Amino acid sequence: MLSGTALASPALAAPALDGVLVDNVEGVTPDGRGGVERFEGFLIDPEGKIAQIFHKGDKRPKKVAYKVDGKGRIVVPGMIDAHGHVMATGFAKMTLDLSMAKSLDEALSRIAAWTAAHPEAPWILGGGWNQASWGLDRMPTAAELDKVTGGKPAWLMRIDGHAGWANSAALSAAGVTATTADPAGGEVLRVAGSKAPAGVLIDAATALVEKKRPKPRPEDADTAFGEAQLQFLAAGVTTVADMGTSIEDWQTFRRASDKHQLRMRIVAYAGGIEAMQLIGGPGPTPWIDDDRLKMNGIKLYLDGALGSRGAWLKAPYADDAGTKGLPQMSSTQLGNLMSRAAMDGFQVAVHAIGDEANATVLDSIEELSQTYKGDRRWRIEHAQIVDPADIPRFARNGVIASMQPQHEASDRTMAEARLGPQRLAGAYAWKSIAATGAKLAFGSDTPVEPAHPFEGLAVAISRTGADGQPMGGWQPQEILTREAALGAYTTGAAYSLFAEDRLGRIAPGLRADFLFVDEDPMTAAPQALRGTHVLETWIGGRLAWSAAQDGGKAGVRR
Ligand SMILES: [Zn+2]
Repeated sequence: MLSGTALASPALAAPALDGVLVDNVEGVTPDGRGGVERFEGFLIDPEGKIAQIFHKGDKRPKKVAYKVDGKGRIVVPGMIDAHGHVMATGFAKMTLDLSMAKSLDEALSRIAAWTAAHPEAPWILGGGWNQASWGLDRMPTAAELDKVTGGKPAWLMRIDGHAGWANSAALSAAGVTATTADPAGGEVLRVAGSKAPAGVLIDAATALVEKKRPKPRPEDADTAFGEAQLQFLAAGVTTVADMGTSIEDWQTFRRASDKHQLRMRIVAYAGGIEAMQLIGGPGPTPWIDDDRLKMNGIKLYLDGALGSRGAWLKAPYADDAGTKGLPQMSSTQLGNLMSRAAMDGFQVAVHAIGDEANATVLDSIEELSQTYKGDRRWRIEHAQIVDPADIPRFARNGVIASMQPQHEASDRTMAEARLGPQRLAGAYAWKSIAATGAKLAFGSDTPVEPAHPFEGLAVAISRTGADGQPMGGWQPQEILTREAALGAYTTGAAYSLFAEDRLGRIAPGLRADFLFVDEDPMTAAPQALRGTHVLETWIGGRLAWSAAQDGGKAGVRR
């Protein structure tokens, strides 16, 4: 087994001066100019960077420290997830997961089972629920949750992280009563015909319970981070942009680095001005630990999500004429926060889902660009619903569209209901945005969607879901070419992180982050591409994870 010998080889653990030759592969990598390049082999230097690429007939070096025979397997660059939530991904594994529940009844029975199995837990915590996939045209209630939680506080986040479902014990622990006012940018759903809280809290209102729930201990965070790394590596993700990093999250990453247990690369975007200053001090951190960790900037939220009607729209919701969504702050406040970060050279990433939110961020960027010149790489996270009139403003201002193809497949019917037919032209409009010259950076938004870039690639080239529906793709004019889709998960994502000089391609001078996979992303049919198996994940010229090694548990580096 290649992986077995590779792991056991002392030469690979510490490459000698001559480097490592990976040969006899069917290699494919973006070429950095919008196309792809094919190759047969490559040489990794002792620093873990690509030294040379070999095409058919090219002479290979005679003396190398170690040779990896690819046995004709497919090699692609390590995938970069340009928007994920690392710690939430790990904690989702350790807490109650409702993402598979198909109905409210099924969710309630899972909650009951978890509660019975964890008598020691002071709170019932978890998430992943989605009332839309339960065929429910309303949010679940505290009364429903009370029946299965035996008086213990329960707090369960919606799949999109923009709403939380509390039972009566959690509401009273948080002091949420009929007299609690809706906070700015948030909403406490009420029992019909009264002021009593119904159980679900949206966007800024979730903080009322978040403040009171027990915080994980550092050792729990370490365990969760280990789980998260395994998930990313097994899915072929070698770098992730962590969106909304707290100081505790950063400390967790640093502890792993200190113990040589940081197995992948993380680029952090702090979850607010305070975390930004605590982590970065006067500016972004340098790359540390052989380019495994860096803090680039800040992640801000301008609106909520479509599923809970928190996305900020220009016109009222098609399925609720009484609301245009929940802006989290005014445009002045947004401009002030963006300015505060840009002043010290931090990169700014703003969550904007609705068309009004996207237009407002673009307004702020246009204004701030007058003051903060140079290569800023402003990012809009999600850019889900954009007024077609605003689409050209991305390229004009060098704004990166950080988008998540899997959201399109999961949310298309919900988006149709929320938006009505008129507004769909600018929904998940990858191709239209890219066509204006703007850069795309793709990610998963894990744990909202699984951190599975090959599933995302399949959606990007087909606009269909796991069931192959709808035939021909939803709004098929937005289907991307394979080159563009692969580029958005590699070179485009690297660019969005200021990392194109070190990550994103298999090319001389860049870090040797690559995967052995069983499908060719340039030719596999969408359903096959979706089911791509990652066989091995290499980071910095070393094997970081292998399917053959018991789920990768043996892949601890050094
Ligand atoms: Zn997110």
